Amino acid sequence: MTQLYNRVALIGLGLIASSMFWGMKRNSLAGEVTGYARSQKTRDTARRIGLCDRVCDSMAEAVKDADLIVLCVPVGVMGDVAREIGPHLKSGATVTDVGSVKRDVIRSVSPHLPKDVHFVPGHPMAGTEHSGPESGFAELFDNRWCLLVPIEGSDPEAVAKLRRFWETLGSNVEEMEPEHHDLVCAVTSHAPHLIAYTMVGVADDLGRVTDSEIIKFSAAGFRDFTRIAASDPTMWRDVFLTNKDATLDILGRFTEELFALQRAIRTGDGQHLHDYFTRTRAIRRGIIEAGQDTDAPDFGRKPASS
Ligand code: NAP
Repeated sequence: MTQLYNRVALIGLGLIASSMFWGMKRNSLAGEVTGYARSQKTRDTARRIGLCDRVCDSMAEAVKDADLIVLCVPVGVMGDVAREIGPHLKSGATVTDVGSVKRDVIRSVSPHLPKDVHFVPGHPMAGTEHSGPESGFAELFDNRWCLLVPIEGSDPEAVAKLRRFWETLGSNVEEMEPEHHDLVCAVTSHAPHLIAYTMVGVADDLGRVTDSEIIKFSAAGFRDFTRIAASDPTMWRDVFLTNKDATLDILGRFTEELFALQRAIRTGDGQHLHDYFTRTRAIRRGIIEAGQDTDAPDFGRKPASS
């Protein structure tokens, strides 16, 4: 039994919140978990599948007497949610979030929280292309990184407790400055998603290769882009609109490298291509050695049954 908080409130009941709930149950991390989602449909689903000990019909009711409040909504609405819950928070409570962008969330949430509430922004670096209350599972955070981004004046005890909370959910925890967080995520997640969206869009627009050919031969590499490009449109729209500077910075560098590779192909510079691909292969090896992916061919997929 590792109960760290008497009452935890989850605002937003999608992939991340539902995974946190099942993870908290697995480890008996909280006395009671309340939850709120915007739509009646999601609240009904949550009640049906037993997601949260108590599903509430208002944010005020969900956060009442909560010791930890986790904002699990798209980053573009974090500020609105903070404004609504601000007056109902218990003195001494900790508010955190799971948003994929940190500078913008800190800017939009901070002004709405009372002085006697601790705000400790966070970001579990774990996800899938699925969303909604039925997509979560307790193991999502196992051996994944969770970045905590304490703001100026964050209470060290509140930060340490939240760190223990994420570690008990299975994560490795690291603290980071907001600006650096947004740059790291632009490289490792945001730009790759945009590139996947673009590649799938290009294939869709290409009249000379039919849709059925794209689907039939997708295992040649395209399939992995489609998985990423199936991610939630609202979440990702908000990520790009709120992590504008860092994403544009990385995309600028990406475009330059792409032009260099394009030039190497046109001029027949095989040495350049070979050297480049040798360097990138080493990065893949590093990810496997760090335990962040499997070394099995094709990510360990079993052949699809026909
Ligand atoms: P999700 O499965 O799409 O769930 C989003 C939840 O937010 C839903 O319960 C939705 O309610 C609620 N919501 C949406 N707009 C709202 C609004 N205006 N007011 C109140 N509630 C609202 O999303 P998710 O994947 O869990 O992502 C949640 C957060 O985690 C995002 O900030 C995202 O950046 C971050 N994150 C995601 C991933 C990932 O891979 N998915 C990874 C790390 C961090 P309804 O169902 O009623 O519409």
